[in-house]
Amino acid sequence: MADNDGSGRIEIQNVTKRFGSLLAVDDVSLEIPHGSYCCLLGPSGCGKTTILRMIAGHETPTSGAITIGGQDVGGLPPVRRGTALMFQSYALFPHLTVRDNVAFNLKMRGVAKEERASRADEMLALVHMTPFADRMPAQLSGGQQQRVALARALITNPRVLLLDEPLSALDEFLRLKMRSELKRLQADLGITFIHVTHTQPEAIALADLVVVMNQGIIEQAASARDVYAFPRSPYVARFMAGHNVLHGRLLASVAETHLLEGPTGARYRIPATAGTPRRTGEQVFFSVRRDLIRLTREETGGEAVENALQGTVEAVEYQGTYVKVTLAGASDEEFIVNEPEHAYFTHPVHRGDTVVASWGVEDVHLLEEDRAAGTK
Ligand code: ATP
Repeated sequence: MADNDGSGRIEIQNVTKRFGSLLAVDDVSLEIPHGSYCCLLGPSGCGKTTILRMIAGHETPTSGAITIGGQDVGGLPPVRRGTALMFQSYALFPHLTVRDNVAFNLKMRGVAKEERASRADEMLALVHMTPFADRMPAQLSGGQQQRVALARALITNPRVLLLDEPLSALDEFLRLKMRSELKRLQADLGITFIHVTHTQPEAIALADLVVVMNQGIIEQAASARDVYAFPRSPYVARFMAGHNVLHGRLLASVAETHLLEGPTGARYRIPATAGTPRRTGEQVFFSVRRDLIRLTREETGGEAVENALQGTVEAVEYQGTYVKVTLAGASDEEFIVNEPEHAYFTHPVHRGDTVVASWGVEDVHLLEEDRAAGTK
């Protein structure tokens, strides 16, 4: 076993967690560099919280190992791991003042009263809560309670801060404000943050490392840019939103491209260079970003034009900088085009219009198979 190097680098090595017959985490391996902001992203029940709790020491892996700063923390209780966990519910003590809530974890560690108070005041300054030190939790707004919970978690100088859905109880305005605050705090403190969320925009705004989970398995762990622009699998592309996922049977390969036949008879031309080799007859999945698709207002005239799908406008939603146009009948799953605002308003389309959505071979992103079974 390596010595503890004092850093917040985390290695999760082939970790599995079972609750009775339920496989909550399935042979997960992941390295989180020291000082990074990592988001565990996925739908409810995919195992994010269980991973967080195993790092904190509140849950024991069924098999596999977790190291923090190079040290196997398997036998260590939560208080000796150098981690702090902030709960979604904040869990402040209602009968203690803000300052005493923040100082609580130091009291548990036997730190003298004066030092506790001065450290608590430092932490309150860090989260801009100095004027509220003598208030009771019930006299605070949700956002203020959350700052106190953050200060309380940070007072033990953890090398890793674990945050379980920290923004989900806040209204939209506060959520965006606290999101920026979390990013600032992590950058200022330089410690590792691991943040569980089921919200894609939250993960990509905050994280250096986004870990997309599905049924206890990691589908992709990469930078925010990479998971968004280059999703590994259909599951990630759908979860990230912003993409249309399409598929077809490989008919032929010509030069640097493959020709596919889609389920509705559509013809797709995709690049042949990237990814694993493909065989004739194989089903190939790919994605095209909603913002790279052109909408034309004429019909195709019934012939199958490559990389062009005819559909009926089902919904039009104004989003400010772009307009989201949902098409029916274009493919066998939801098909959305995000048109720049000015392009849309130059030639608006309306519900019921027939339109053609098209894209170039260079706009196609090839997908690998989903790792979790049966989600395609
Ligand atoms: P959420 O966003 O809803 O919290 P999650 O992705 O964090 O979801 P987990 O809380 O890690 O998911 O749960 C993963 C699976 O393990 C779920 O099916 C859950 O019901 C189950 N599970 C979690 N904790 C326990 C437990 N203590 N006993 C039994 N089953 C559990």
